Amino acid sequence: LWAQSLKHLENDLNDQQFHTWIRPLQAIEEDSVIRLLAPSTFILDWVNKKLMDNIRQAVATASPVNPPEVKLEIGDYTVESANETERTVPQPLQSKNKSETPTTSKTSDKTSGKSAIKHNLNTSFTFETFVEGKANQLAAAAARQVAENPGGSYNPFFIYGGVGLGKTHLMHAIGNQLMKDKPGARVVYLHSERFVADMVNALRHNKIDDFKRFYRSLDALLIDDIQFFANKEQSQEEFFHTFNTLLEGNKQVILTSDRFPKEVDGLEDRLKSRFGWGLTIAVEPPEFEMRVAILLKKASEYGVVLPDEVAFFIAKRLRGNVRDLEGALKRVGAYAQFTQQTLTVDLVKEALKDLLALQQKMVTLENIQKTVADYYKIRVADILSKRRSRNVARPRQMAMAIAKELTNHSLPEIGDAFGGRDHTTVLHAVRKVKELRETDHHLDEDFNSLIRIITN
Ligand code: ADP
Ligand code: MG
Repeated sequence: LWAQSLKHLENDLNDQQFHTWIRPLQAIEEDSVIRLLAPSTFILDWVNKKLMDNIRQAVATASPVNPPEVKLEIGDYTVESANETERTVPQPLQSKNKSETPTTSKTSDKTSGKSAIKHNLNTSFTFETFVEGKANQLAAAAARQVAENPGGSYNPFFIYGGVGLGKTHLMHAIGNQLMKDKPGARVVYLHSERFVADMVNALRHNKIDDFKRFYRSLDALLIDDIQFFANKEQSQEEFFHTFNTLLEGNKQVILTSDRFPKEVDGLEDRLKSRFGWGLTIAVEPPEFEMRVAILLKKASEYGVVLPDEVAFFIAKRLRGNVRDLEGALKRVGAYAQFTQQTLTVDLVKEALKDLLALQQKMVTLENIQKTVADYYKIRVADILSKRRSRNVARPRQMAMAIAKELTNHSLPEIGDAFGGRDHTTVLHAVRKVKELRETDHHLDEDFNSLIRIITN
């Protein structure tokens, strides 16, 4: 119905009116009411004063019999931003009175006299619910430091790593801790795409000064997935200034990205270099013990009774990221509940049949050899050959170690598949790679990347 009304409005109003005032309205159609959400009080006031008659008329034309009532409300500025956090219901107009701050944010900033801000923090992403292990212990320790000493020497604090590895969780954990230690702190979490969208909106509605003032008045600004700033020059420019202002005022900035900041394409060099001023830290895919710990912890959170051996089984077979583990666990839990059975390894095999088959299918010795060869830009034939030069021998050892890690093949079977080598050669490779991973950071990253490529 609103779509139709829009057509009438488009005819009725001139382009500029239509695009400036009507387009930004978001419609929620209910039984006998259309609620129109305005993105700012500015738009709301204007539409209220000048365009309500046109809107009512358009709606009545679109629905001549029993036209719905039209209500204009303030839609919260960041309603759609909560893609990874809880969604907040837009506040009705009445509650936006100056004397009574709306309840969209969890705490109100009474001391400063400023109105409360919307933090977008997901309160369940805390340090308490974050499982630590080798893969993330540095990041977690640093995050605690930042929470204890915001605006200190880890500024900006930059967390990077693959999807589903807890970057967003850690970022919120810091934000939640800051809020807990100092209720009323001006902490804001935003996905970078939201920052861009808000800025574009502000520009369009001549509110860029408000926008700037707002972001520059924060105690802590948390921007997630900054790789989405790529090639958005104007946003980068604005962010750069906001960023500098905050840093100069010793306000904490926390950023995440799916890769090392210097490797984010389409990001200005000066931004990349500034991102490195504070502390940049990686989160890695969880290793086996951590996967078990995560499964057990999440199981108790969800109220799923998960026997240890079942957790071991899932952790051994599913090596994806934490989000995938969570997904698998939920599925297993639901399956057990529906079929009213207790969780056993057999039940898990049944419930996760497709996932397990998928992993099984991909993790063959041939696939490992091929992936490792591609990764090091050599040929599979080189891996299978007798050549001992370093550029071939090392990838070969890597491939053997990965085969041992990812498959259930025995050492002699692996040796066989690698050009008929002895099982002691395989054992040596496995030990060598383990030892190297502890001392050689690059090699360790290669190993993790390869596991990720092969299992995803
Ligand atoms: P990212 O931002 O790195 O893509 P998220 O922080 O969104 O990953 O994590 C994905 C899911 O996995 C979330 O539900 C999060 O709570 C959970 N998660 C990730 N890492 C951990 C961890 N170490 N302990 C507990 N939960 C975790
Ligand atoms: Mg994230």
